[in-house]
Amino acid sequence: MIVEPKAKGFICTTAHPVGCRENVCNQIAYAKSKAKEYRSMSTRPKKNVLIIGCSAGYGLASRIAAAFTAGCNTLGVMYEREASGKRTATAGYYNTKAFEEMALQDGLYAQTINGDAFSKDVKEQTIRKLKQDLETVDLVIYSLATPKRTLEDGTVVSSVLKTIDKPFTTKNLNLYHNVIEQATLEPATEEETQNTICVMGGEDWKDWIDALKEADVLSQGALTLAYSYLGPDLTYPIYQSGTIGQAKRHLQKTAEIINRIHPDVKAYISVNKAVVTQSSAAIPGVPLYLSILYKVMKEKGLHEDCIMQMVRLFTDRIGRKEIATDEEGRIRLDDLEMESVVQEEVTRIWEEVTTETIKSCCDLDGYWEDFYKIFGFGIKNVDYSQDVEV
Ligand code: NAD
Repeated sequence: MIVEPKAKGFICTTAHPVGCRENVCNQIAYAKSKAKEYRSMSTRPKKNVLIIGCSAGYGLASRIAAAFTAGCNTLGVMYEREASGKRTATAGYYNTKAFEEMALQDGLYAQTINGDAFSKDVKEQTIRKLKQDLETVDLVIYSLATPKRTLEDGTVVSSVLKTIDKPFTTKNLNLYHNVIEQATLEPATEEETQNTICVMGGEDWKDWIDALKEADVLSQGALTLAYSYLGPDLTYPIYQSGTIGQAKRHLQKTAEIINRIHPDVKAYISVNKAVVTQSSAAIPGVPLYLSILYKVMKEKGLHEDCIMQMVRLFTDRIGRKEIATDEEGRIRLDDLEMESVVQEEVTRIWEEVTTETIKSCCDLDGYWEDFYKIFGFGIKNVDYSQDVEV
């Protein structure tokens, strides 16, 4: 059938199998182009990597960098939907099919468990698979982003994107009408904040590490990373000091707990750059920030996407003998985003931008290009007029 993009709110309800494959191929080509550099400088060879949240955004890029830059075997965990009837599969499903095929072609182990990473069952399945195929893992990457978590007793907990204490009104880019408007975020109740911490905080990361340790499938000196974001003053009330920021603080505390209770495991938070993914598009104010940031960073030759960030994570951070961190022990990949020349320019444009000047002030095309790319659309060399097998 012919697959067309159907954007709805912050997501696209269709995904193009050939486009997703091409997107993965392009990321693999970039990752491979840095393999020599990695081999020449890496003092920490990794062999087996487990990626929890492996099928999209930063998790997918981590998997591609692990396999094609660092030459690792990868076991992935994702929560994606297969195609049924005329309904396409999710992009993550197609991405993973393409990734597995290409990793196998290069002689790399690549298997994926499709199920709810929060569940005990998926943790047990993963451990069985590890014991059977890889014995131990050297690196565990935790890259889940989700609005919901189902607890073992069946209770569904939802996260919210709200402020703490008081409402906050911010400039917002309404991407569907191309207008600058005001968006107000209401403060969360204590219960909503705790629920957001339950979904996006560190509890499940720690459950994974405890379970892997207990099953004796972590190699001596294994590394584990969870991803976070800090962002500038502009998004501070929404992000850092909002409910999601509370969850990220919990994630950071969890790294300290893992390091304390498992002395032979090293846990780090990696603070990554803001990029367009299914998750970031949903945060009020963030699309405006992203489209200005893209413009400024591209003009300064500093722009990076998920795969560039994750290749840099391997080559310049975790591949090194000494892993460079900030004073709070975090790996920083948002260093270029947070440079004062970038932030000063972004702030100036943010203050100036109006509906009339959106096109000249923001990289709207770059934003939409990245948004559609997530779902396999708008990719060069793909003929979208052709029938495809979904
Ligand atoms: P994403 O939406 O692109 O990908 C999320 C991944 O999680 C997918 O592979 C999905 O299958 C998986 N997933 C979701 N629920 C699951 C479940 N219950 N079981 C198994 N797998 C599940 O997200 P992303 O933007 O790449 O975010 C990943 C991490 O990176 C998050 O912690 C996020 O906060 C962080 N981060 C994102 C940005 C950004 O700008 N996007 C910046 C810095 C840090």
